[in-house]
Amino acid sequence: MKIVVIGGGAAGMMFSTQYKKANPEDEVILFEKSSYVAWAGCPTPYFIADELKKSDVLHGTPEDFIKRGINVKIHHEVTKIDFENKTLTVKGNEINGIISYDKLVIAVGAKSFVPNIAGYSQNLENVFTLSHAEHAFKIKDFLNENKPKLKNAVVVGAGFIGLEMAESFRKNGLNVTLIE
Ligand SMILES: Cc1cc2nc3c(=O)[nH]c(=O)nc-3n(C[C@H](O)[C@H](O)[C@H](O)COP(=O)(O)OP(=O)(O)OC[C@H]3O[C@@H](n4cnc5c(N)ncnc54)[C@H](O)[C@@H]3O)c2cc1C
Repeated sequence: MKIVVIGGGAAGMMFSTQYKKANPEDEVILFEKSSYVAWAGCPTPYFIADELKKSDVLHGTPEDFIKRGINVKIHHEVTKIDFENKTLTVKGNEINGIISYDKLVIAVGAKSFVPNIAGYSQNLENVFTLSHAEHAFKIKDFLNENKPKLKNAVVVGAGFIGLEMAESFRKNGLNVTLIE
């Protein structure tokens, strides 16, 4: 059996590890579009607050999972699924084209929802969402690079992630306004 998993977050990595343990003869290929696998969102605000290390939020490298027999391909994005013919279109440097599967697991996670706020763009250098490892490292790098001149942080949304980030920005020495 050839099992293909799309997405190297908690769901994709957990599934692949458990499946491979139970079915060592089967081939497991996992495609992750970013550079990171096994990112843990939960402790991330405390990593941004400098209370945890990078290794506390990245629970393994692609190589760690390759050693467990999972064929992890980072920088590979699945752009199309043909369910009838059981094939995927993959865009990556190693695999770039159509590959087949016997069973498919879609573990692509979720995106942050940003309502229709005038002027918002994903490319503003000091405006962030937080739902992926890449966002976490972008926020952390921005804080590290600009710390002396930063004064105020605004957090939009007072759910648990908003509250944890408000706490994290306070620990970074910023004045925080939380808007709900
Ligand atoms: C700040 C924060 C704090 C949190 N705290 C808690 C908590 O305390 N308790 C709790 O239970 N949960 C918490 N969560 C939620 C938890 O982190 C998520 O539920 C979990 O990470 C979801 O894992 P996932 O594998 O489903 O998705 P994701 O982690 O989103 O992983 C999906 C992966 O799929 C990849 N991908 C997407 N599309 C493609 C494609 N077409 N091709 C290839 N790859 C693709 C993405 O790059 C991503 O790496 C928190 C989340 C955040 C952001």
